[in-house]
Amino acid sequence: MNLDLTAYITLICTSGVLNLYLCFYVFIKRHHYANIAHLFILHTGFTTIYCIGAAFSLLSVTLGEMKFWTVIQYIGMPFSPPAGLLFVMQYVGIKVRKKHVLALFIIPFISLIMVATNDWHHLHYRVFEIDPVLGAPYIHQEIGTWYMIHGMFIFSSMFVAFLLAVYRWKETAKAYRLQLIALMVGQLVPMVTAFIYLMGFTPQGIDPVPMVLWVSSFLYLWSINSSRMFTVMPIAKDAIFNSINDGVIVLDEAYRLIEFNLASKNMFPQLKKSMFGKRFADIWLTLSGSSFPFTLENTKSSQELKLENQAYYDELTQIYNRRAFFQHSKQAFDEAKKFASSFTFLLIDIDYFKKVNDTYGHSAGDQVLVHVVKACQSILPQVALFARYGGEEFVLALKGYTSSEAEVLANQLRRHVETQPLLINEGTISVTLSLGVAQAAKQENETLDDLLNKADIALYSAKQNGRNQVRVYEEIKEILKRT
Ligand code: GH3
Ligand code: MG
Ligand code: MG
Repeated sequence: MNLDLTAYITLICTSGVLNLYLCFYVFIKRHHYANIAHLFILHTGFTTIYCIGAAFSLLSVTLGEMKFWTVIQYIGMPFSPPAGLLFVMQYVGIKVRKKHVLALFIIPFISLIMVATNDWHHLHYRVFEIDPVLGAPYIHQEIGTWYMIHGMFIFSSMFVAFLLAVYRWKETAKAYRLQLIALMVGQLVPMVTAFIYLMGFTPQGIDPVPMVLWVSSFLYLWSINSSRMFTVMPIAKDAIFNSINDGVIVLDEAYRLIEFNLASKNMFPQLKKSMFGKRFADIWLTLSGSSFPFTLENTKSSQELKLENQAYYDELTQIYNRRAFFQHSKQAFDEAKKFASSFTFLLIDIDYFKKVNDTYGHSAGDQVLVHVVKACQSILPQVALFARYGGEEFVLALKGYTSSEAEVLANQLRRHVETQPLLINEGTISVTLSLGVAQAAKQENETLDDLLNKADIALYSAKQNGRNQVRVYEEIKEILKRT
């Protein structure tokens, strides 16, 4: 074996061993890390397979062996850059969902199939043979149509990952910039190498990328150990700002609105980005129709106004508590009565919630409650008044909704929650809801409590009928009348 080849194989093995080490290291410690560790394990796992395949294909002497090890390489290589992209996405604060993972793995999966069956269609490699001049393990290859798609895809994955890291540069605190640099260079090294290779500047028929992957691995290893990549992440300003449970509204020196976070948006659904630049006193009138009832904590440096009104919000889910709900819905209920418009209550109860607590523990139960609230909030209309009624029960007041309109919404909520199970370390928790709908009667003497009772009867009927369904009080009444 010549010296060059020995050097190549040594470099590739270094990459392989380092990636394998990283993969195991993070795997063993995964319980101490945030969820991002899983994506890192995936990324380094695929890279390891790629390196192993590459090393063995350089040790091959027959075309059959070379083809075999190329297929092994493809079990890792096409998957590694998209897994890296998912890892970077999570790192910069984008929530990675199952559908992202599946979508990004479609092309790699096809590439693997294409390489494994290339002899039949030659779509990936038009020509794949032992180099007639240099001999094995050098390869003479001419790329086919699918190879181009595959190449563009893995190149784009690395490029997008790199761009995401660059994009977050400004919002990242100085202390974490080295971590971000490690991430950027970690993506850049294989990307540039792949580019040089595709341009034909490296030895014919030998993929140089696995030879440089140890550089990325070293950077990641450094990041994990010295700047605690997985435990302390430079989550972007937005993510932190929005995760604050208190409503925070930022005004400029002239008390004009310049920023607000998610919690304040939940408190005041009418708050919009289009209000930026307007005087807060005017905005407040639109939001509440009254004077400012909260304590203003006006810090000179940042002019941040903190709204302290925990008395009205459920601590766990950060939506209205029962008390706030009754205050607000009473007003809406009275108005509906006055103008003879529709008004509907929707009671929501999580099915078999006790079982979640019993199986996964109380804290998982709490996570389910938050998860359900978030899922509901993502599709609720602006007019909806949403509150935690108590325990695992929630209530919605829908101004202007008839019971059949509310039934449609209720079914949307039910399906949305049903199709979005909660993923926790211990497993996947499927959640279903039972919902009861009741519309306010037009006569004068019905109270809010009466309406709530009707919704409760409907909810009870949904439970009786087998759960995971919506029942409408008015329909139940019809049936009772007829029987
Ligand atoms: P069903 O389908 O009939 O509604 O059954 P279920 O188990 O959901 O109903 P049940 O009312 O028997 O149980 C509700 C449980 O919710 C009992 C209580 O321990 C639990 N729970 C109430 N509040 C909280 C909370 O804040 N966190 C957690 N984790 N559990 C809670
Ligand atoms: Mg209950
Ligand atoms: Mg329940």
